[in-house]
Amino acid sequence: MARDVRISSLASRLGMNADALAEWFFDHGVPVLDGRSFVPEARALDAESRFGRDPKQELERWLDERGVTRGPHHKDALQTLVDIVPVAERGPGTVDDLKSHITLHCAAEPCRVLANRSLQLGHATVAFATDRRAECDVCGGSDNAQAARAMIDACQRAGRSRLLVVGGAPGTAEALLALTEGSGVDVRIAFDDRTRSTSAAEADVDWAHIRVVWQDTEVSHTLSQRYTEYASRKGLPFVTVRRRGIKALCEAVVLHVWKAR
Ligand SMILES: [Zn+2]
Repeated sequence: MARDVRISSLASRLGMNADALAEWFFDHGVPVLDGRSFVPEARALDAESRFGRDPKQELERWLDERGVTRGPHHKDALQTLVDIVPVAERGPGTVDDLKSHITLHCAAEPCRVLANRSLQLGHATVAFATDRRAECDVCGGSDNAQAARAMIDACQRAGRSRLLVVGGAPGTAEALLALTEGSGVDVRIAFDDRTRSTSAAEADVDWAHIRVVWQDTEVSHTLSQRYTEYASRKGLPFVTVRRRGIKALCEAVVLHVWKAR
């Protein structure tokens, strides 16, 4: 969590006059009164980059705090970063700028792969492994988020961006929609047969690139039948997922996409 930093203590650390530092903050758009005021941690780091230590040191500290273990790779990656954002141009925002080029990933394979992929795609980012799963930029320590990201990636790579899910309890459906929102993979979920007419159900089947029946849920048999029968008449495949949970659904979709390649 970001903390607020008192200007006077920051100033003494940097060997500066507190009121002069407050003035500098004020000139740079931070609403402060004097040396006794507080500034957000990110702004304090700006001041440190400008007046104090090397931004690379700040960055190292930031990485340490986030559970990144130092090693040979760590050193090379930091050098790459500094090459991306020349330290010669250091000033307010340098550290934040450097941070924006860093992706942290946990030990899980999907997260490692996804974090490193941005490099292959030509984005100027550096991936670091962290011991702390909650710091993972891919999954944030959540199994569901991790599985959803891996699924989104698999779907996009296969060029199949429309997913139809028949079944799933309303709460689960909402969570899945939230995890995939804005990802480029469109998800439609049908879990209530009273709200979907037969023609709407058929349109959903035609629309989808990937069709899933999530059976170990509250989906009524009539509802799923309406979809699966139409699909089978048209020769369109339906994946059946019998395990509960978003993770299970996402894993089944990934498996299906890989098999279909
Ligand atoms: Zn992760």
